[in-house]
Formats: sequence, structure tokens, C-alpha cells
Amino acid sequence: MNKPITVTSPLLPPLDEFTKYLEDIWKRKWITNNGHYHQELENALCEYLKVPFLSLFTNGTLPIMVALQSLRITGEVITTPYSFVATTHSLWWNGIKPVFVDIDPKTGNIDPNKIEAAITPKTTAIMPVHVYGNPCDTEKIKNIANTYGLKVIYDAAHAFGVEVNGKSILNEGDLSTLSFHATKTYNTIEGGALICHDAETKKRIDYLKNFGFAGETTVVAPGINGKMDEVRAAYGLVSLNYVDDAIAKRREVALQYREALRNIAGITVFEDFENVKHNYSYFPIIVNEELYGLTRDELYEKLKANNIFGRRYFYPLISNFSTYRGLPSANKENLPVANRIADSVICLPIHHEIDEEDLNKIINLIVLQ
Ligand SMILES: *Cc1c(COP(=O)(O)O)cnc(C)c1O
Repeated sequence: MNKPITVTSPLLPPLDEFTKYLEDIWKRKWITNNGHYHQELENALCEYLKVPFLSLFTNGTLPIMVALQSLRITGEVITTPYSFVATTHSLWWNGIKPVFVDIDPKTGNIDPNKIEAAITPKTTAIMPVHVYGNPCDTEKIKNIANTYGLKVIYDAAHAFGVEVNGKSILNEGDLSTLSFHATKTYNTIEGGALICHDAETKKRIDYLKNFGFAGETTVVAPGINGKMDEVRAAYGLVSLNYVDDAIAKRREVALQYREALRNIAGITVFEDFENVKHNYSYFPIIVNEELYGLTRDELYEKLKANNIFGRRYFYPLISNFSTYRGLPSANKENLPVANRIADSVICLPIHHEIDEEDLNKIINLIVLQ
């Protein structure tokens, strides 16, 4: 059997380059707690991402949890069911009630026209996701938030490096979070970040990710341990030099998929959005079984039988998991678009190591059923 083709492949820094950093860390003997490389990576990421302030975290879920704590969000938060479970779980862990709003089929993101109807006196914030790195309608969301006095936290786990009209999408809202998990476009094995607009907010975030310590003996909040260690910060510094190349390769793969699949009846692809610099972190296709002739799961299994491992991101929908399905807003009638897309999506393999042969194999299997 030929080699498996997986949905993604981690971008690993060249080992010989990374080893030099390891030797230096061993010499310094400062292996965590805001060390040398931790500070260097925060600065390098601010520059690369064009954001003013960024705090590193040990994974991409803790920055969401800390974002909610730092703004003292309570009550109800309006969010999307079409995401990775960590988005809604972070609300739950903070004792906040998630209120699901349906998505826009053109982007996969929360439909801004349906947000106002979900606002109650208990609503304190909106937590949208730039799913697949597709930018949310940040203008409309900002207007609603301003009108109703709500905070906006973007789960931007998929939006590393995404820009709209030359401006980073990560500067939208009150706060934005990133994940640097192994499966993401840019990774630090496990890791994440929280992006904010000013030094005072960063200071508070940094207290919160270090147990609430504001000094040797002062604890100002019930913080958590969210710190990234020196080894992964150094790994991230080396990798950052290679992420542009990896994104360029992903782009080539995306363009070839689109070219080949655009006119296949029953297969829908997302096109590039105008004025958007994408990161090509995912390549979702939507399968319409009536027009295509196979169900989504039949195509998924067929690919799998040929050693091609797509993923059904995001199926099942978060609102259908046992924790959330009892909520009034989790009702399927409230979320028809999200349920339809979750039941018909497959994310095809896309990463920096997909070659021509892999691509042809995948495309032929989809085109010649
Ligand atoms: C990956 C991901 C997260 C969580 O990140 P981890 O680094 O795995 O903790 C959160 N939200 C979304 C949308 C994600 O895809």
C-alpha cells in the first residue's frame, strides 16, 4: 500500500538549526517562566503578525479561557456552533452559557444578521471564529457590539497571518486568540497566543497566565498556569522562518484543487475572498449527495480506503454534543445552515508536503467516481 496522505503534516523546523537553540537553553538553564526565547518569540510574532501586543500560551485553549477571565465575561455569550469544541468548552469552563447562532454558508462563520435576535439582558460578549481562516464580517459585529455594549473575543485559531486590505484580522475585536497546535499552519508543537491592543491589558493577561502573580508575593486574580516553555519558544522562532514557504505551498495546493473541482456537480469549494491574504490552513469541500451521487460519508470512506485521510471538520456540530444539545439555542431548527454544512463537509489534505502525485490521486478519486 502506498504512503498515507493525511489532512495535514506538522511544519517541523530543521533539526540542526533547532539543536543550536537547545544547546543555548541548556547553557542558560532558564527553561520556562518568561525566558529569553519566550520574549524573543513574542516580539517576533508581533512583528510577523502586525499586532501590537501578544502573550504566548502553552496551548490554544488557555488563551480563550484567559480572554474571558481578563474581560470578566459572565452570563451568556453569543457564539458559533461551527468550530472546534475548544471554543464552546472555554465558555463552559468559565461558567458562561453559550448561545448558538447559525452560520453564513458563504464563509462558514457566524451570520452577523442573526446575532441581534439572540441578545438578552444576560449577554455580555460575542465570540465568533474565523473558521478555516475565512474572515468574519468584523464591521457588522463591531457595530452590534457597540450598540449593545458587548465585548468581542475572536477565536482566531485558524487565522494565523490572515489580512484584510493589508491589515491583520488579529487586531479586530477586544481580543483575539491563536492556536499553535501541531495541526495548525504554524505550530510550536502545542502552543497559542492572546492578542490585545494595549500594554495594560497585556500586563493583566500575563498575570492571569502565571497564577495571577503580579509580584513575588502579590496575587491579583485567580490565575492559571498557561506559560510556554523555552524549548517550544525556540522551536517557534526557528519555524517562523519557514512558515511563509509553507503557506505558499499550501496556496498552490488550494489553487489546483479549485481548478480541478470547481465544475464537479455536487462539490462546492470556498474561493479566495477579495482583498484577503489567506493562509490556506484548510481545504473544505461541501458534498451535495443528490448532485454528486455519493454521500459525504461515502466519499470520506472511499478516500480512506485509498489511504487518503481527509477530516470532517466540523462534524459533529458542537451544539449536538451531549454537553450542549439540551440548550434552547442548540435546537436544530435554530441552526439549519450549520447542521447542513457539518453533515456535508470534508477537509481535504492540504500541507507543505503534498506533491503533484498526491494531488492527482486525490482529485481523480473525487472526479472519477
Ligand atoms: C485548534 C483550535 C483551538 C484550540 O487550540 P489548542 O491549541 O488545540 O488548544 C481552539 N479553537 C479552534 C477553532 C481550533 O481550531
